[in-house]
Amino acid sequence: MSVGVIIVAGGRGTRTGSAIPKQLIDLGGRTVLQRSVAAFDAHPGVAAIVVVLPEELVGDGRALVGSTRLPCAIAAGGARRQDSVAAGLAALPSGHELVLVHDAARPFVDRATIDRVIEAAGRTGAAVPAVAARDTIKRVPASSRLVAETIPRGEIWLAQTPQGFRRPVLEAAVALGASGMEGTDEAMLAERAGHAVEIVEGHERNVKITTSDDLERARAQFAPAVRVGTGYDLHRLVDGRPLVLAGERLPSDRGPLGHSDGDVVCHALADALFGATGLGDIGQHFPNTDPQWKDVAGLDLLSRSVAILAAGGWRPASADVTVVLERPKLVPHLPAIRQRVADVLGLDVSAVSVKGKTNEGVDAVGRGEAIAAHAVATVVRVTGA
Ligand code: MG
Repeated sequence: MSVGVIIVAGGRGTRTGSAIPKQLIDLGGRTVLQRSVAAFDAHPGVAAIVVVLPEELVGDGRALVGSTRLPCAIAAGGARRQDSVAAGLAALPSGHELVLVHDAARPFVDRATIDRVIEAAGRTGAAVPAVAARDTIKRVPASSRLVAETIPRGEIWLAQTPQGFRRPVLEAAVALGASGMEGTDEAMLAERAGHAVEIVEGHERNVKITTSDDLERARAQFAPAVRVGTGYDLHRLVDGRPLVLAGERLPSDRGPLGHSDGDVVCHALADALFGATGLGDIGQHFPNTDPQWKDVAGLDLLSRSVAILAAGGWRPASADVTVVLERPKLVPHLPAIRQRVADVLGLDVSAVSVKGKTNEGVDAVGRGEAIAAHAVATVVRVTGA
């Protein structure tokens, strides 16, 4: 039997808390929708795909789906899920005798589950992948908080998608839906239309992304929890300039020359943060050709860098800075510098290290002609960004 797939992406997904529809949220470089489509596009038993999108996205449908191996049509969804499935079925050429209906919000569907559904639906007429309930199930009337009964868990299965149907069975389910019956899935309508529906093993990973927690867990599978970046900065030291490190003024008759205040601790650290996140560098965000950044305080730049990170979905997790300076001695000032850095990064001081070194009289830094800093920072993804 030739297998066609209807991927239902008609919802707006407001429960994920995201401003964009959940099917268009990026998961590790591909959207939720693209991952769902790819799972079927790669399956050797599937011959055609129909993607059902909200009306307003249909015009961009091909671009949203991306390139596919199989023929892929785009259809406009309806108000209810069953209306969207009806539209998808109408757009699927009649030569496909077995039809799978899949929620776009289940991007982790695996090949073995699809295999089991195709096999069972061909044999029985309708098949649903499901996982056995692990929690104890209580039935509670809508009107109270009192348990009416505990339902034997062995009889409870949690339905997933793709749900598979011989085409006449799905047509009967769609017709029942069109006549006014409400179904939370196509299998329910098929059951009501009098057809046998077989349960096959689904997969725990085949989750439906519905809430912001679901989305966070899904993203965690693709995004490394922690990233690392390095930064470096050097400024020439000249007479008559203040020597400021992380906003802390040091006793010195020489200070860094620069368009800004030449705060190497903040500059190296900002670059480490940008480096960890792939969000550019300090020169790109605060160009020294822009008068806006003339004499700007290093701590201010660092604070702005943290804000840019936050907008990109990251926050600092730790920082380690080494300042290379011949004189004055840094040791007395390190605790104050460390605390200021921690405050700006929003970290406990224990997550921040600032160390001082001399260059043993060697090269420009060693001769006291320059100050340099090396920084390493780690960042973590911000929940729900
Ligand atoms: Mg600099």
